[in-house]
Amino acid sequence: MYLKSLEMQGFKSFPDKTRLLFDSGVEVDLAGGDDAHGVTVIVGPNGSGKSNIADAMRWVLGEISSKSLRGSKMEDVIFGGADSRRPMGYAEVSVTFDNRGEFAKLDCPYDEVTVTRRYYRAGDSEYFINRKAVRLRDIYELFMNTGIGRDGYSIIGQGRIAEMVSRKSEERRSVFEDASGIAKYRHRKNESERKLAEAEDNMNRLNDIFTEVSAQVGPLQKEAEKAKRAIELLDNKKKADVSLWLYDTERIRGELESAEEAMKHAAFDLQTANDNLQSLEAQNEKLFEASQSTRQESEQLLTEIRRQTDRCHDLESRQRVAENSISHAKDLIAATLGSVAGTKKSIAAEQESGAEHAKKIGELENSLEELTLEREGLATDQTA
Ligand code: ATP
Repeated sequence: MYLKSLEMQGFKSFPDKTRLLFDSGVEVDLAGGDDAHGVTVIVGPNGSGKSNIADAMRWVLGEISSKSLRGSKMEDVIFGGADSRRPMGYAEVSVTFDNRGEFAKLDCPYDEVTVTRRYYRAGDSEYFINRKAVRLRDIYELFMNTGIGRDGYSIIGQGRIAEMVSRKSEERRSVFEDASGIAKYRHRKNESERKLAEAEDNMNRLNDIFTEVSAQVGPLQKEAEKAKRAIELLDNKKKADVSLWLYDTERIRGELESAEEAMKHAAFDLQTANDNLQSLEAQNEKLFEASQSTRQESEQLLTEIRRQTDRCHDLESRQRVAENSISHAKDLIAATLGSVAGTKKSIAAEQESGAEHAKKIGELENSLEELTLEREGLATDQTA
């Protein structure tokens, strides 16, 4: 295995993107020390972040125990801020291995393999192999038997050797199994055993179901007959539905044809009505024009009517005055006739007294005549 680089951003004490290249065995001096050759060593004062680099390595290879990463929770891997620096929202670490020729230990078709792990403060994790999203399990399987996996022996932290020596033999065994190359096969064996146990569980469940189902066969047969009958009835219903549908279709088609016929008539009526409407509109237009010219005439007539009405009122008042005069004259006539009648009566009385006087005059004239005759007779007699 040839480790080419380790890149950290937002991981523990590395807020900025920090890339460690291991291609020529150059010493990485976090405190600014001198170069060295042969092996890569990281030197620096206490608390400068040396162990954080080893933690980053373990973390990117799939470590899930916060305790192993010297924290109390997984969020502790994210840069938590400093006096002059705000906390980061996520931590990301990428590790790159050469996978060519003699270094090709990873079961992967690429010449260079980059594994990336990202963790967000919200709790979401993302894993990538050569920028392709994968599951954590794919990363375990990729590094199995290479010695650098999560449980590998290549990364030995502070005090880990003493811990391993004092650990129970069973726990120590995983380290040696990884070293001897049987971890992969143990993992596969465990997987197979798990799958076998699952298959056995499934078999047992199937047996239970089979026993249960066997007891239900009798009633189910009756149910099946009923179901068969129901299917037959359903078939008949379907046929009846189809006939009904055909009948309905025929009927609807007839209705459609008569509706189309009615629509044609209606369209014809509509056309006629439109024509009529158009001619009526033309007439209306003409009438409107005529009404415009008659309006003037009617306004003139109205003026004339108003003038005549005024004249009428004038005549009426004059008539009333004349009627008053007539009534007055009639009263005068009546009074005059009354006095005429009185006069006539006086005339009649005068005439009557005149007639009596005339009669008396006649009688007096007669007596005068008689007297005259008598006097003449007497005179004659006297002469004689
Ligand atoms: P020593 O030689 O004593 O073991 P070291 O060089 O290995 O020290 P580390 O233990 O890697 O140092 O780093 C410790 C430093 O990392 C501390 O200063 C601590 O504040 C810082 N640190 C750890 N976690 C974080 C974090 N989440 N955010 C910011 N700083 C962190």
